[in-house]
Amino acid sequence: MKVLVCGGAGYIGSNMTELLARRGHKPVVLDNLSKGHQAAIKNAEFVQGDFGDFDFAVNVLKKYKIEAVMHFAAFIEVGESVDQPLRYYENNVSRTRTLLAAMEAAGVRKFVFSSTAAVYGMPEQIPITEDTPKSPINPYGETKWAVERMCHFQSQTGRLRYAALRYFNACGAGFNATLGEDHEPESHLIPLIIYTAMGKRDNIKIFGMDYPTPDGTCVRDYIHVEDLARAHLLALAKLDEKTELVYNLGNGKGYSVRQVIDCVRKVSGREFKVLEVARRAGDPPVLTADASKAKKELGWKTDYPELEKIVESAWKFHTANPKGYGSK
Ligand code: UDP
Repeated sequence: MKVLVCGGAGYIGSNMTELLARRGHKPVVLDNLSKGHQAAIKNAEFVQGDFGDFDFAVNVLKKYKIEAVMHFAAFIEVGESVDQPLRYYENNVSRTRTLLAAMEAAGVRKFVFSSTAAVYGMPEQIPITEDTPKSPINPYGETKWAVERMCHFQSQTGRLRYAALRYFNACGAGFNATLGEDHEPESHLIPLIIYTAMGKRDNIKIFGMDYPTPDGTCVRDYIHVEDLARAHLLALAKLDEKTELVYNLGNGKGYSVRQVIDCVRKVSGREFKVLEVARRAGDPPVLTADASKAKKELGWKTDYPELEKIVESAWKFHTANPKGYGSK
C-alpha cells in the first residue's frame, strides 16, 4: 500500500516508515523537518513540505497515488502548549483539518492518527480503558481530542475511515536501536536519565516524591516505539472492515520514576546524580493502559513488555549517536 507518513522524520514516524518499508508497503514521508531529522528516513521517498498546505497536500496525495495517511506531525510539549495554546491549535488542529480536507479532495479515505493518553487528563479509574471519560487538562491533550472528534464526525459522512491510537509513554529505539529519540528540547524521562548517565547532563530531577504511589514517584506505562508501530499497521489493515477505531496502546504495567532511574543505572552500569524536586504541574500520579481491546481486536502483541529491554535499546541508540542524528 502507498502510505503517506506525515511527520515521518520524527521519532515515532520514522519507526513507522521503516516498518512499512520492511513489510513491503511504499511509504512516502512528508515532513517539514522543523523537528524531524532527514537522517531518520532510510527506506522511503521523502517530500519536504507542509501537510497543512491544502494545494500542496492534494498534489502530494495525487502524485504518489496515496491510499492511506498516517499522521505523526504534531507539537508535543505540554508546557509549551500551556504557554502558546494558539500555536498548538493551529498546528495540531487547524492544519490537521486541512490535511483531512486535502484527503477528501484527493479521495483518500484511510487515516491513522497519533493520539495520546493525555486525552484522559487526570482519570479517576486506573487502568484506563478507551471508555474512560475524556477530560484533557492542557491544550496539548485538548488538541488531540479535538482531532479525534473531527475524525469521528468526518467518518460519519462515509468519506473517512480512521483509527485513533492513544499512546501511553512512547520510548525505546527501534530496528536494532537505529531509530531513537532525538527531540529538541528533550523533556522525556528515559532520554533525560540516559543523558545524565552519559555525562551530557549534570543530574536528573525527580518531579515529586509525595505521590500516592508505592515509592512516592509517578507511575507511567512505557511502551516501545516498535510495538507502537506494529499496532498502527494492524489498525490500518482493520480499516478494511471498520470505519472508526480507537485503541489505547500501552503495556498495561506501570513503572515509577525511581524504577526507571534504577533501570538506567543497571543497564548503563553508571552512577549519576539524582535530585528530588517539587512536582511538575499537571502530572497525574498513575497512568497505565488497559490495552486489551487492541490485543483482542487487532491481535496486537508487544515484543518489549519489560522496561529493561526498552531501556537497553534506548541506551544503545544514545551511546551510538551521542549527538543524536547530528552525529552522522
Ligand atoms: N519526570 C521526571 N523528571 C524529568 C522528566 C520527567 O521526574 O526530568 C517524570 C514526570 O513527572 C512523569 C514521568 O517522569 O511522571 C514521565 O514524564 P515524561 O515527560 O517522560 O512523559 P509524560 O508522562 O509526561 O507524558
